[in-house]
Amino acid sequence: ACVEKPRVHLPVPRRSLGTMSHFQLEGTNKTVLDRYMRLELPENKCQAMYIWVDGTGENLRSKTRTLHFIPKTPSELPEWNFDGSSTGQAEGSNSDVYLRPVAMYRDPFRLGDNKLVLCETYKHNKKPTDTNNRRECLEVMTRAAESRPWFGMEQEYTLLDTDNHPLGWPKNGFPGPQGPYYCGVGAGKVYGRDVVEAHYRACLYAGINISGENAEVMPAQWEFQVGPCEGISMGDDLWMARYLLHRVAEDFGIVVSLDPKPIPGDWNGAGMHTNFSTQEMREPNGIAEIEKAIEKMSKVHEEHIKAYDPKGGKDNERRLTGHHETSSIHDFSAGVANRGCSIRIPRGVAEEKTGYLEDRRPSSNADPYVVSERLVRTICLDEC
Ligand code: ADP
Ligand code: MN
Ligand code: MN
Ligand code: MN
Ligand code: MN
Repeated sequence: ACVEKPRVHLPVPRRSLGTMSHFQLEGTNKTVLDRYMRLELPENKCQAMYIWVDGTGENLRSKTRTLHFIPKTPSELPEWNFDGSSTGQAEGSNSDVYLRPVAMYRDPFRLGDNKLVLCETYKHNKKPTDTNNRRECLEVMTRAAESRPWFGMEQEYTLLDTDNHPLGWPKNGFPGPQGPYYCGVGAGKVYGRDVVEAHYRACLYAGINISGENAEVMPAQWEFQVGPCEGISMGDDLWMARYLLHRVAEDFGIVVSLDPKPIPGDWNGAGMHTNFSTQEMREPNGIAEIEKAIEKMSKVHEEHIKAYDPKGGKDNERRLTGHHETSSIHDFSAGVANRGCSIRIPRGVAEEKTGYLEDRRPSSNADPYVVSERLVRTICLDEC
């Protein structure tokens, strides 16, 4: 007679079971999805994802339409609309808000001829909505075009679990103190590198002028840089890069926070350092122009602080404490290679006497259109 071998029941590891059911609950299966995403589209059709800043001035929204042609420039794209009463941009009784396409990018998610379309928002009376800060920014950039203003923005952000706890942090405590995490490498020192890698490639594919990334001082905090960009393209590229970040993180089941001080206490905040130069600053002995600019900025510190986060300075108050590599929100200061100042002149710029300045005050959730407009008004147009 044959003897049946006893069946070995290997216990299913708890962790992987938890992870599986998490993904089942979310109703997502990227492998199955990929099979559909490889279906060919009919000739001369593409999908255009229209993207806009909502009524918070911080969050993004998007929706898709089919186009029956392959657009070459945003001017070919049709105007569209959405229900502004659901995004904090209109009353329910008169809720249509118009979407005006202003910039177009390749779509790194749907690939092929598909497009991502950045839009401005206009009310029923054709006036810009309250959070459409691009229109005024463009007007200012056009008037200052001869100064050839360049920007480079350093977008810091924090990755969170879907329960809003920083990614990789122990659920009932804190990781070891800051020190090993900045530009860190190795398990236990960095959390969320997959998101960072995927986002960097997605930006390059889309056509965003992304120039780098690094892990930040607080674990699960990261930075990417966009620039140098001239004029209005700074705000366009940064908003689109933010959209890609939220969207990539969504694919990994991870939340992106742009809060300037996500964890109170002895943990670094998040900013959007803004590097700035004009044609004159970039010429030999441009340092004199940089110093003139800093002098002008020193006179309107409070006005700038009001423009450097979406809540008129309230958000940045939690970050600009004067500790943790920031200046105090109440003082204006400038210095060479000094990261505790409001304005830093990079060491290389001071040595070569030409280049750019870094405004370290803008909050991570600031509107790049507002920040870039402010700098140009103050430095190039002597307005405020
Ligand atoms: P940091 O040392 O402050 O961390 P980063 O390397 O993160 O600096 O960012 C520097 C930024 O400065 C980059 O985004 C780059 O595009 C930008 N930049 C470089 N040269 C100029 C310039 N002439 N004008 C404006 N921005 C510039
Ligand atoms: Mn509908
Ligand atoms: Mn940086
Ligand atoms: Mn940084
Ligand atoms: Mn910086």
